[in-house]
Amino acid sequence: MASYDYDLFVIGGGSGGVRAARLAGAMGKRVGLAEEYRMGGTCVIRGCVPKKLFVYASQYSEHFEDAPGYGWSVGETAFDWPTLLANKDAEIDRLEAIYRKGLDTNKVDIIDSRASFVSAHEVLLEATGKTVTAETILVATGGRPNLHEALPGHEHCITSNGAFHLETLPKSIIVAGGGYIAVEFANIFHGLGVDTTLLYRGVKILNGFDEDVRDHLQETMIAKGINVICHQVFENIERRADGRLEALLSGGETKTVDQVMLALGRVPNTAGLGLEHTGVEMDRSGAIIVDDYSRTNVDHIWAVGDVTDRVQLTPVAIHEAMCFLETAFKDNPIKPDYEAIATAVFSQPEIGTVGLTEAQATERYAELEVYKAVFRPMHNILPGRNEKMLMKLIVDADSRVVVGAHVVGPGAGEMAQLLGIALKARSTKDQFDATMAVHPTAAEELVTMYQPSYRVRNGEKAAA
Ligand code: FAD
Repeated sequence: MASYDYDLFVIGGGSGGVRAARLAGAMGKRVGLAEEYRMGGTCVIRGCVPKKLFVYASQYSEHFEDAPGYGWSVGETAFDWPTLLANKDAEIDRLEAIYRKGLDTNKVDIIDSRASFVSAHEVLLEATGKTVTAETILVATGGRPNLHEALPGHEHCITSNGAFHLETLPKSIIVAGGGYIAVEFANIFHGLGVDTTLLYRGVKILNGFDEDVRDHLQETMIAKGINVICHQVFENIERRADGRLEALLSGGETKTVDQVMLALGRVPNTAGLGLEHTGVEMDRSGAIIVDDYSRTNVDHIWAVGDVTDRVQLTPVAIHEAMCFLETAFKDNPIKPDYEAIATAVFSQPEIGTVGLTEAQATERYAELEVYKAVFRPMHNILPGRNEKMLMKLIVDADSRVVVGAHVVGPGAGEMAQLLGIALKARSTKDQFDATMAVHPTAAEELVTMYQPSYRVRNGEKAAA
């Protein structure tokens, strides 16, 4: 039998890679992990975590606006971008150190280097020029922002990576894209006082989400003062002599702003990875093709997380890594389970969602009961804030199982986590109804919508 330097070598120290390496180390495996940038990957360094810190920061403008309704007078307020960046960076440093310590404690060899395949069992560590061999290799290299290189002037734009390190907060910005990252950043910049435009080529933001959720959020964002432009794209972007950017839109309008941020999807990180030396197959987008257990077409090479372009979320990458360990090292094959993934969009207001949209449920079930409530949450009454909350439950009329739950409003992300348990357990609407409300909360609406708002029979909307 060939002898290898490592039992497992992991390429990429993000959500999936770190979890796999740490747990394999804890099992007594000889593990190496190469990370080319910073330990923790996208989520910790330039994704979920710093994004959420920015969301918190951006919510203060509304807190200050609401305060007088509760009797508080807030003096003059000022926002200091460098302070936010410095505090955010300190927190990211702290988290990165925790990730490194976790690997170290479990005796994982941490290699601060880009890695690429030279053969199916051999990896080049580019920082030192050394190669190492491994019996099993896990690719967990994640993804990177799409730079939209076909756009003239794309080099003047930032992506989410740059947004976390801007030297100064722009006075005006166009965020291009309609997915959750674009929507979240548009709300962040708006909340921080930036004149914000969201430019999206589709009909309506957040393609793939429930239609009511999309409508509700888009209308609320517009009401807040975010300029949402749909059905248009950039023709080109030019840098003016004064440093500002001039963006020509497909509708013919020219907009002059301080920054343009592209949030136009993410590309799997496989370029230059040397996969051609292994025979591992990729799809047309460069994503690694894996089977139900995250194994590639080459038996000892596996891939998890965004590089496989299945569901691009941190908990999914971690879950895939844990299934990989069970399957590859514990003789306990487990397929990742993608049913009813609860997720949040940290827009303002927030979205929490789990299960099927009404459109998806309509395709799957002959008859649906749809329960819908739109109301002003209690917190908004005294400040006179008009913003409404949306709650929607979609029920298969035959089995009475709740197959979709969608919330837009304060705390929606936290609610989605708990709704996720209820939907995973295939709870019925009768069990929702039998659940005692927590009063006074917004969430109680989820267990007190006794009568359907309408039904959907064979794809047709019908009276309740
Ligand atoms: P990553 O975390 O991307 O890690 C891959 C690592 O591999 C990186 O550190 C990279 O530097 C390294 N690498 C790449 N190539 C090499 C190489 N050749 N050699 C060595 N190292 C290499 N998900 C959520 O669940 N909730 C959120 O709120 C959320 N918000 C997000 C906000 C933003 C702005 C972004 C961009 C993403 C967000 N995500 C969120 C998605 C989440 O970050 C990813 O799904 C998750 O990080 C994927 O984990 P991963 O292990 O596949 O890859």
